Amino acid sequence: HYDVVIVGAGHGGAQAAIALRAGKFAGSIAIVGDEPDLPYERPPLSKDYLSGDKPFERILLRPPAFWEERQVAMRLGRRVVAVDPAVRTVTTDDGETIGYSELVWATGGSPRRLTCSGHDLIGVHGVRTRADVDRMIAELPDVSRVVVIGGGYIGLEAAAVLAKFGKQVTVLEALPRVLARVAGEPLSRFYEGEHRAHGVDVRLGVGVSCIAEADGKACGVTLADGETLPADMVIVGIGIVPAVQPLLDAGAAGGNGVDVDAQCRTSLPHIFAIGDCAAHKNTFADGARIRLESVQNANDQATVVAKAILGTPIDYHAVPWFWSNQYDLRLQTVGLSTGHDDCVVRGDIASRSFSLVYLRGGQVIALDCVNATRDYVQGRALVVAGAAPDRDRLADVGIPLKEVMA
Ligand code: FAD
Repeated sequence: HYDVVIVGAGHGGAQAAIALRAGKFAGSIAIVGDEPDLPYERPPLSKDYLSGDKPFERILLRPPAFWEERQVAMRLGRRVVAVDPAVRTVTTDDGETIGYSELVWATGGSPRRLTCSGHDLIGVHGVRTRADVDRMIAELPDVSRVVVIGGGYIGLEAAAVLAKFGKQVTVLEALPRVLARVAGEPLSRFYEGEHRAHGVDVRLGVGVSCIAEADGKACGVTLADGETLPADMVIVGIGIVPAVQPLLDAGAAGGNGVDVDAQCRTSLPHIFAIGDCAAHKNTFADGARIRLESVQNANDQATVVAKAILGTPIDYHAVPWFWSNQYDLRLQTVGLSTGHDDCVVRGDIASRSFSLVYLRGGQVIALDCVNATRDYVQGRALVVAGAAPDRDRLADVGIPLKEVMA
Protein backbone atom coordinates (compact mmCIF):
# COMPACT_ATOMS: atom_id res chain seq x y z
CA HIS A 1 0.00 0.00 0.00
CA TYR A 2 1.11 3.52 -0.83
CA ASP A 3 -0.51 6.82 0.08
CA VAL A 4 -0.29 7.85 -3.57
CA VAL A 5 -0.02 5.43 -6.47
CA ILE A 6 0.73 7.04 -9.82
CA VAL A 7 0.08 4.91 -12.90
CA GLY A 8 2.31 5.91 -15.82
CA ALA A 9 5.97 6.93 -15.54
CA GLY A 10 5.81 9.60 -18.23
CA HIS A 11 5.66 13.39 -18.14
CA GLY A 12 2.50 13.70 -16.06
CA GLY A 13 3.29 10.88 -13.64
CA ALA A 14 6.82 12.09 -12.96
CA GLN A 15 5.70 15.68 -12.49
CA ALA A 16 2.93 14.63 -10.08
CA ALA A 17 5.52 12.98 -7.82
CA ILE A 18 7.90 15.94 -8.17
CA ALA A 19 5.13 18.42 -7.29
CA LEU A 20 3.97 16.36 -4.31
CA ARG A 21 7.47 16.26 -2.82
CA ALA A 22 8.05 19.94 -3.65
CA GLY A 23 4.82 20.63 -1.72
CA LYS A 24 6.24 18.73 1.30
CA PHE A 25 4.00 15.70 0.89
CA ALA A 26 5.33 13.28 3.50
CA GLY A 27 3.38 10.14 2.56
CA SER A 28 4.57 7.21 0.50
CA ILE A 29 4.53 7.49 -3.30
CA ALA A 30 4.91 4.79 -5.96
CA ILE A 31 4.97 5.17 -9.71
CA VAL A 32 3.88 2.08 -11.63
CA GLY A 33 4.94 2.22 -15.27
CA ASP A 34 4.92 -0.29 -18.09
CA GLU A 35 8.08 1.00 -19.78
CA PRO A 36 11.36 -0.29 -18.33
CA ASP A 37 13.01 3.13 -18.12
CA LEU A 38 12.90 5.94 -15.61
CA PRO A 39 10.74 8.87 -16.77
CA TYR A 40 12.18 10.59 -19.84
CA GLU A 41 11.23 13.38 -22.20
CA ARG A 42 9.04 12.15 -25.03
CA PRO A 43 9.32 15.10 -27.47
CA PRO A 44 12.95 14.30 -28.47
CA LEU A 45 11.86 10.85 -29.67
CA SER A 46 10.91 12.32 -33.05
CA LYS A 47 13.62 15.00 -32.90
CA ASP A 48 17.10 14.87 -31.33
CA TYR A 49 16.87 11.33 -30.00
CA LEU A 50 15.92 9.89 -33.38
CA SER A 51 18.65 11.98 -35.02
CA GLY A 52 21.23 10.74 -32.50
CA ASP A 53 21.99 14.27 -31.28
CA LYS A 54 20.88 13.46 -27.72
CA PRO A 55 21.70 10.17 -26.03
CA PHE A 56 19.10 8.63 -23.73
CA GLU A 57 20.81 9.84 -20.53
CA ARG A 58 20.27 13.41 -21.66
CA ILE A 59 16.53 13.02 -22.06
CA LEU A 60 15.88 11.56 -18.62
CA LEU A 61 13.49 13.91 -16.79
CA ARG A 62 15.56 13.61 -13.60
CA PRO A 63 18.81 11.77 -12.79
CA PRO A 64 18.24 8.33 -11.20
CA ALA A 65 19.38 9.51 -7.74
CA PHE A 66 16.59 12.12 -7.66
CA TRP A 67 13.89 9.49 -7.25
CA GLU A 68 15.75 7.71 -4.47
CA GLU A 69 16.41 10.94 -2.61
CA ARG A 70 12.72 11.91 -2.87
CA GLN A 71 11.67 8.39 -1.86
CA VAL A 72 9.55 7.76 -4.89
CA ALA A 73 9.26 3.99 -5.40
CA MET A 74 9.66 3.15 -9.09
CA ARG A 75 7.69 0.03 -9.96
CA LEU A 76 8.65 -0.15 -13.62
CA GLY A 77 8.16 -2.72 -16.35
CA ARG A 78 4.66 -3.61 -15.20
CA ARG A 79 1.29 -2.60 -16.47
CA VAL A 80 -1.82 -1.87 -14.45
CA VAL A 81 -4.61 -4.00 -15.86
CA ALA A 82 -7.39 -3.47 -13.32
CA VAL A 83 -8.56 -0.92 -10.78
CA ASP A 84 -10.90 -1.63 -7.88
CA PRO A 85 -12.18 1.70 -6.58
CA ALA A 86 -14.22 0.04 -3.82
CA VAL A 87 -11.21 -1.38 -2.00
CA ARG A 88 -8.74 1.08 -3.56
CA THR A 89 -6.34 -1.29 -5.28
CA VAL A 90 -4.71 -1.65 -8.67
CA THR A 91 -3.63 -4.97 -10.13
CA THR A 92 -0.64 -5.32 -12.40
CA ASP A 93 -0.05 -7.70 -15.29
CA ASP A 94 2.41 -9.67 -13.16
CA GLY A 95 -0.38 -10.38 -10.68
CA GLU A 96 0.51 -7.95 -7.93
CA THR A 97 -2.17 -6.00 -6.08
CA ILE A 98 -1.15 -2.58 -4.79
CA GLY A 99 -3.31 -0.54 -2.43
CA TYR A 100 -3.64 3.25 -2.62
CA SER A 101 -5.21 6.10 -0.73
CA GLU A 102 -5.14 8.36 -3.79
CA LEU A 103 -4.64 7.15 -7.36
CA VAL A 104 -3.25 9.33 -10.17
CA TRP A 105 -3.84 7.95 -13.65
CA ALA A 106 -1.21 9.34 -16.04
CA THR A 107 -1.01 6.75 -18.78
CA GLY A 108 -0.97 8.81 -21.96
CA GLY A 109 -1.95 6.66 -24.90
CA SER A 110 -0.69 4.20 -27.44
CA PRO A 111 -0.22 5.05 -31.10
CA ARG A 112 -3.38 4.55 -33.13
CA ARG A 113 -2.73 1.64 -35.48
CA LEU A 114 -3.78 1.21 -39.04
CA THR A 115 -6.55 -1.32 -39.46
CA CYS A 116 -5.56 -2.46 -42.96
CA SER A 117 -3.68 -5.65 -43.74
CA GLY A 118 0.04 -5.53 -43.03
CA HIS A 119 -0.31 -2.98 -40.22
CA ASP A 120 1.67 -5.18 -37.81
CA LEU A 121 4.51 -6.22 -40.13
CA ILE A 122 8.15 -5.82 -39.18
CA GLY A 123 9.25 -2.42 -40.44
CA VAL A 124 6.00 -0.67 -39.50
CA HIS A 125 6.55 1.70 -36.58
CA GLY A 126 4.58 3.88 -34.22
CA VAL A 127 6.52 6.65 -32.45
CA ARG A 128 5.62 6.81 -28.78
CA THR A 129 8.30 5.17 -26.66
CA ARG A 130 12.05 4.87 -26.48
CA ALA A 131 11.66 1.23 -27.52
CA ASP A 132 9.74 2.27 -30.65
CA VAL A 133 12.51 4.65 -31.69
CA ASP A 134 15.33 2.25 -30.77
CA ARG A 135 13.72 -0.28 -33.12
CA MET A 136 13.67 2.33 -35.87
CA ILE A 137 17.27 3.35 -35.26
CA ALA A 138 18.37 -0.30 -35.42
CA GLU A 139 16.72 -0.74 -38.82
CA LEU A 140 17.88 2.55 -40.33
CA PRO A 141 21.22 1.40 -41.79
CA ASP A 142 19.29 -0.91 -44.12
CA VAL A 143 16.64 1.64 -45.00
CA SER A 144 16.68 3.91 -47.99
CA ARG A 145 12.97 4.55 -48.62
CA VAL A 146 10.61 5.63 -45.86
CA VAL A 147 6.88 6.21 -46.06
CA VAL A 148 5.38 8.27 -43.23
CA ILE A 149 1.64 7.84 -42.83
CA GLY A 150 0.12 10.94 -41.23
CA GLY A 151 1.12 14.57 -41.73
CA GLY A 152 0.82 15.65 -38.09
CA TYR A 153 3.65 17.00 -35.96
CA ILE A 154 5.19 13.63 -35.11
CA GLY A 155 5.15 12.36 -38.68
CA LEU A 156 6.59 15.59 -40.03
CA GLU A 157 9.32 15.75 -37.39
CA ALA A 158 10.37 12.18 -38.14
CA ALA A 159 10.26 12.95 -41.87
CA ALA A 160 12.57 15.95 -41.33
CA VAL A 161 15.15 13.88 -39.42
CA LEU A 162 15.11 11.06 -41.96
CA ALA A 163 15.30 13.44 -44.92
CA LYS A 164 18.36 15.01 -43.31
CA PHE A 165 19.82 11.50 -43.06
CA GLY A 166 19.50 11.30 -46.85
CA LYS A 167 16.61 8.85 -46.87
CA GLN A 168 14.03 9.09 -49.61
CA VAL A 169 10.93 10.11 -47.64
CA THR A 170 7.27 10.23 -48.65
CA VAL A 171 4.60 11.69 -46.36
CA LEU A 172 1.02 10.54 -46.91
CA GLU A 173 -1.78 12.68 -45.51
CA ALA A 174 -5.44 11.77 -45.88
CA LEU A 175 -6.67 15.36 -45.55
CA PRO A 176 -6.03 18.08 -48.14
CA ARG A 177 -3.23 19.64 -46.06
CA VAL A 178 -0.70 18.66 -43.40
CA LEU A 179 -1.29 19.75 -39.77
CA ALA A 180 -4.95 20.21 -40.71
CA ARG A 181 -6.30 19.50 -37.26
CA VAL A 182 -3.97 21.78 -35.36
CA ALA A 183 -2.99 24.73 -37.53
CA GLY A 184 -4.30 27.28 -39.98
CA GLU A 185 -3.89 26.83 -43.70
CA PRO A 186 -0.90 29.21 -44.14
CA LEU A 187 1.13 27.17 -41.65
CA SER A 188 0.18 23.92 -43.38
CA ARG A 189 1.25 25.28 -46.76
CA PHE A 190 4.49 26.61 -45.33
CA TYR A 191 5.50 23.24 -43.83
CA GLU A 192 4.39 21.40 -46.95
CA GLY A 193 6.71 23.67 -48.97
CA GLU A 194 9.60 23.24 -46.53
CA HIS A 195 9.40 19.46 -46.69
CA ARG A 196 9.22 19.51 -50.48
CA ALA A 197 12.25 21.82 -50.57
CA HIS A 198 14.10 19.19 -48.52
CA GLY A 199 13.22 16.51 -51.05
CA VAL A 200 10.27 14.97 -49.20
CA ASP A 201 7.44 13.78 -51.43
CA VAL A 202 4.33 15.14 -49.69
CA ARG A 203 1.11 13.57 -50.96
CA LEU A 204 -2.16 15.07 -49.79
CA GLY A 205 -5.68 13.66 -49.84
CA VAL A 206 -4.46 10.09 -50.24
CA GLY A 207 -5.84 6.99 -48.56
CA VAL A 208 -3.85 3.90 -47.59
CA SER A 209 -5.24 0.55 -48.61
CA CYS A 210 -2.66 -1.83 -47.17
CA ILE A 211 0.98 -2.39 -46.27
CA ALA A 212 2.68 -4.61 -48.85
CA GLU A 213 4.75 -7.55 -47.60
CA ALA A 214 7.85 -9.35 -48.76
CA ASP A 215 9.66 -12.01 -46.69
CA GLY A 216 7.53 -11.23 -43.65
CA LYS A 217 8.48 -7.55 -43.68
CA ALA A 218 6.89 -4.37 -44.93
CA CYS A 219 8.08 -3.54 -48.45
CA GLY A 220 5.68 -0.82 -49.49
CA VAL A 221 2.46 1.06 -48.96
CA THR A 222 -0.43 0.52 -51.32
CA LEU A 223 -2.65 3.55 -51.80
CA ALA A 224 -6.41 3.57 -52.29
CA ASP A 225 -5.91 4.17 -56.02
CA GLY A 226 -3.83 0.98 -56.30
CA GLU A 227 -0.36 2.54 -56.59
CA THR A 228 2.26 0.90 -54.37
CA LEU A 229 5.05 3.08 -52.99
CA PRO A 230 8.13 0.96 -52.22
CA ALA A 231 9.30 1.36 -48.62
CA ASP A 232 11.87 -0.26 -46.34
CA MET A 233 10.35 1.48 -43.34
CA VAL A 234 6.81 2.69 -42.63
CA ILE A 235 6.16 5.19 -39.86
CA VAL A 236 2.59 5.60 -38.66
CA GLY A 237 1.75 8.89 -36.97
CA ILE A 238 -2.03 9.06 -36.95
CA GLY A 239 -2.73 9.96 -33.34
CA ILE A 240 -3.12 8.05 -30.11
CA VAL A 241 -5.70 5.99 -28.33
CA PRO A 242 -5.83 7.04 -24.67
CA ALA A 243 -4.82 4.20 -22.34
CA VAL A 244 -7.85 4.30 -20.06
CA GLN A 245 -9.53 0.92 -20.43
CA PRO A 246 -8.92 -0.27 -16.84
CA LEU A 247 -10.49 2.95 -15.54
CA LEU A 248 -13.49 2.73 -17.86
CA ASP A 249 -13.90 -0.93 -16.86
CA ALA A 250 -13.97 0.23 -13.24
CA GLY A 251 -16.86 2.55 -14.10
CA ALA A 252 -15.17 5.90 -14.71
CA ALA A 253 -17.03 8.32 -16.96
CA GLY A 254 -15.32 8.88 -20.28
CA GLY A 255 -14.90 7.47 -23.74
CA ASN A 256 -12.24 9.35 -25.63
CA GLY A 257 -10.05 9.46 -22.53
CA VAL A 258 -11.39 9.68 -19.01
CA ASP A 259 -13.49 12.65 -17.96
CA VAL A 260 -12.09 14.88 -15.22
CA ASP A 261 -13.28 18.00 -13.43
CA ALA A 262 -11.37 21.25 -12.92
CA GLN A 263 -9.19 19.58 -10.27
CA CYS A 264 -8.54 16.53 -12.44
CA ARG A 265 -10.82 14.26 -10.41
CA THR A 266 -12.44 11.44 -12.34
CA SER A 267 -15.99 10.35 -11.54
CA LEU A 268 -14.52 7.64 -9.27
CA PRO A 269 -13.60 8.62 -5.70
CA HIS A 270 -9.89 9.13 -4.92
CA ILE A 271 -8.92 8.71 -8.57
CA PHE A 272 -7.42 11.57 -10.57
CA ALA A 273 -6.36 11.60 -14.21
CA ILE A 274 -3.89 13.89 -15.96
CA GLY A 275 -2.10 14.43 -19.24
CA ASP A 276 -2.90 13.05 -22.67
CA CYS A 277 -5.61 10.73 -21.33
CA ALA A 278 -7.56 13.35 -19.32
CA ALA A 279 -10.65 14.79 -21.03
CA HIS A 280 -11.07 18.13 -19.30
CA LYS A 281 -13.05 21.30 -19.89
CA ASN A 282 -10.52 23.81 -21.15
CA THR A 283 -10.99 27.55 -20.70
CA PHE A 284 -8.94 28.19 -23.84
CA ALA A 285 -11.24 25.96 -25.90
CA ASP A 286 -14.32 27.94 -24.85
CA GLY A 287 -14.96 25.45 -22.06
CA ALA A 288 -15.23 22.47 -24.43
CA ARG A 289 -14.19 19.07 -23.11
CA ILE A 290 -10.94 18.16 -24.84
CA ARG A 291 -7.79 16.16 -24.41
CA LEU A 292 -4.53 18.02 -24.92
CA GLU A 293 -1.44 16.13 -25.97
CA SER A 294 1.35 18.36 -24.75
CA VAL A 295 4.04 18.47 -22.11
CA GLN A 296 2.54 21.72 -20.81
CA ASN A 297 -0.81 20.10 -20.16
CA ALA A 298 0.69 17.01 -18.49
CA ASN A 299 2.90 19.11 -16.21
CA ASP A 300 0.29 21.69 -15.28
CA GLN A 301 -2.37 19.09 -14.57
CA ALA A 302 0.16 17.21 -12.44
CA THR A 303 0.57 20.34 -10.35
CA VAL A 304 -3.20 20.67 -10.02
CA VAL A 305 -3.48 17.09 -8.76
CA ALA A 306 -0.62 17.53 -6.31
CA LYS A 307 -2.35 20.59 -4.87
CA ALA A 308 -5.63 18.71 -4.53
CA ILE A 309 -3.87 15.87 -2.69
CA LEU A 310 -2.00 18.36 -0.50
CA GLY A 311 -5.33 19.91 0.51
CA THR A 312 -4.77 23.23 -1.26
CA PRO A 313 -6.85 22.70 -4.42
CA ILE A 314 -6.72 24.98 -7.43
CA ASP A 315 -8.61 24.78 -10.71
CA TYR A 316 -6.82 24.03 -13.96
CA HIS A 317 -6.74 26.90 -16.39
CA ALA A 318 -3.17 27.03 -17.67
CA VAL A 319 -2.42 28.60 -21.04
CA PRO A 320 -1.75 25.87 -23.61
CA TRP A 321 1.63 25.95 -25.33
CA PHE A 322 3.52 23.59 -27.59
CA TRP A 323 6.53 23.45 -29.86
CA SER A 324 7.78 21.52 -32.88
CA ASN A 325 11.26 21.38 -34.42
CA GLN A 326 11.63 20.54 -38.10
CA TYR A 327 14.87 21.25 -40.01
CA ASP A 328 16.07 24.65 -38.75
CA LEU A 329 12.52 25.76 -37.99
CA ARG A 330 11.37 26.24 -34.43
CA LEU A 331 7.61 26.46 -34.15
CA GLN A 332 6.18 27.73 -30.88
CA THR A 333 2.46 27.78 -30.29
CA VAL A 334 0.44 29.45 -27.57
CA GLY A 335 -3.32 29.14 -27.09
CA LEU A 336 -5.61 26.88 -29.10
CA SER A 337 -6.43 27.91 -32.65
CA THR A 338 -9.36 25.52 -33.11
CA GLY A 339 -12.48 27.50 -33.93
CA HIS A 340 -10.70 30.62 -35.18
CA ASP A 341 -12.60 32.72 -37.71
CA ASP A 342 -9.70 34.92 -38.78
CA CYS A 343 -5.95 34.50 -39.15
CA VAL A 344 -3.50 37.38 -39.48
CA VAL A 345 -0.10 36.72 -41.02
CA ARG A 346 2.54 38.73 -39.20
CA GLY A 347 5.79 39.00 -41.13
CA ASP A 348 6.92 37.56 -44.42
CA ILE A 349 6.35 33.81 -44.66
CA ALA A 350 9.07 33.56 -47.32
CA SER A 351 11.61 34.91 -44.80
CA ARG A 352 10.98 31.75 -42.70
CA SER A 353 10.42 33.90 -39.63
CA PHE A 354 6.80 34.88 -39.08
CA SER A 355 3.76 34.39 -36.89
CA LEU A 356 0.14 33.53 -37.46
CA VAL A 357 -2.26 35.23 -35.10
CA TYR A 358 -5.60 33.46 -34.76
CA LEU A 359 -8.70 35.43 -33.84
CA ARG A 360 -12.25 34.57 -32.95
CA GLY A 361 -14.81 37.35 -32.87
CA GLY A 362 -11.90 39.80 -33.09
CA GLN A 363 -10.14 38.39 -29.99
CA VAL A 364 -6.72 36.75 -30.10
CA ILE A 365 -7.06 33.06 -29.20
CA ALA A 366 -3.71 31.63 -30.35
CA LEU A 367 -0.42 32.22 -32.14
CA ASP A 368 1.80 29.96 -34.19
CA CYS A 369 5.28 31.50 -34.25
CA VAL A 370 7.95 30.16 -36.62
CA ASN A 371 11.47 31.26 -35.74
CA ALA A 372 9.80 34.17 -33.95
CA THR A 373 10.32 33.65 -30.23
CA ARG A 374 9.71 37.29 -29.39
CA ASP A 375 6.18 37.10 -30.83
CA TYR A 376 5.59 33.88 -28.93
CA VAL A 377 6.67 35.41 -25.62
CA GLN A 378 4.80 38.66 -26.09
CA GLY A 379 1.74 37.13 -27.79
CA ARG A 380 0.98 35.03 -24.74
CA ALA A 381 -0.39 38.05 -22.88
CA LEU A 382 -2.76 38.76 -25.78
CA VAL A 383 -4.12 35.20 -25.55
CA VAL A 384 -4.49 35.38 -21.78
CA ALA A 385 -6.28 38.72 -21.96
CA GLY A 386 -8.43 37.74 -24.97
CA ALA A 387 -7.21 41.03 -26.43
CA ALA A 388 -8.89 42.45 -29.53
CA PRO A 389 -6.16 44.45 -31.28
CA ASP A 390 -6.41 46.24 -34.57
CA ARG A 391 -5.70 43.78 -37.43
CA ASP A 392 -3.33 46.13 -39.23
CA ARG A 393 -1.28 46.66 -36.11
CA LEU A 394 -1.09 42.89 -35.55
CA ALA A 395 0.22 42.42 -39.08
CA ASP A 396 2.83 45.17 -38.68
CA VAL A 397 6.11 43.54 -37.58
CA GLY A 398 7.40 47.02 -36.80
CA ILE A 399 5.07 47.07 -33.77
CA PRO A 400 6.11 44.61 -31.04
CA LEU A 401 3.14 42.55 -29.88
CA LYS A 402 3.46 43.93 -26.37
CA GLU A 403 2.70 47.37 -27.81
CA VAL A 404 -0.03 46.33 -30.18
CA MET A 405 -2.81 47.41 -27.81
CA ALA A 406 -1.26 50.81 -27.10
P1 FAD B 1 3.20 9.83 -21.32
O1 FAD B 1 4.35 10.76 -21.23
O2 FAD B 1 2.98 9.10 -22.60
O3 FAD B 1 3.35 8.76 -20.14
C1 FAD B 1 2.44 7.72 -19.97
C2 FAD B 1 3.19 6.50 -19.48
O4 FAD B 1 2.25 5.55 -18.96
C3 FAD B 1 3.92 5.78 -20.60
O5 FAD B 1 5.19 5.38 -20.19
C4 FAD B 1 3.02 4.56 -20.85
O6 FAD B 1 3.73 3.47 -21.42
C5 FAD B 1 2.55 4.27 -19.45
N1 FAD B 1 1.33 3.45 -19.35
C6 FAD B 1 0.26 3.43 -20.16
N2 FAD B 1 -0.67 2.56 -19.71
C7 FAD B 1 -0.17 2.03 -18.56
C8 FAD B 1 -0.67 1.07 -17.62
N3 FAD B 1 -1.89 0.52 -17.76
N4 FAD B 1 0.12 0.72 -16.58
C9 FAD B 1 1.35 1.29 -16.43
N5 FAD B 1 1.87 2.20 -17.28
C10 FAD B 1 1.10 2.57 -18.34
N6 FAD B 1 4.52 17.58 -26.62
C11 FAD B 1 4.97 18.85 -26.64
O7 FAD B 1 4.49 19.66 -25.83
N7 FAD B 1 5.92 19.26 -27.52
C12 FAD B 1 6.47 18.41 -28.41
O8 FAD B 1 7.32 18.80 -29.21
C13 FAD B 1 6.05 17.05 -28.42
N8 FAD B 1 6.61 16.13 -29.25
C14 FAD B 1 6.25 14.83 -29.14
C15 FAD B 1 6.89 13.88 -29.93
C16 FAD B 1 6.56 12.54 -29.82
C17 FAD B 1 7.27 11.52 -30.67
C18 FAD B 1 5.55 12.13 -28.92
C19 FAD B 1 5.18 10.67 -28.80
C20 FAD B 1 4.92 13.06 -28.13
C21 FAD B 1 5.24 14.42 -28.23
N9 FAD B 1 4.63 15.38 -27.45
C22 FAD B 1 5.05 16.67 -27.48
C23 FAD B 1 3.52 15.02 -26.56
C24 FAD B 1 3.99 14.78 -25.14
O9 FAD B 1 5.10 13.93 -25.13
C25 FAD B 1 2.84 14.19 -24.36
O10 FAD B 1 1.79 15.11 -24.37
C26 FAD B 1 3.23 13.86 -22.93
O11 FAD B 1 4.21 12.86 -22.90
C27 FAD B 1 2.00 13.44 -22.15
O12 FAD B 1 2.37 13.00 -20.86
P2 FAD B 1 1.52 11.86 -20.15
O13 FAD B 1 2.08 11.73 -18.79
O14 FAD B 1 0.08 12.13 -20.33
O15 FAD B 1 1.82 10.56 -21.01
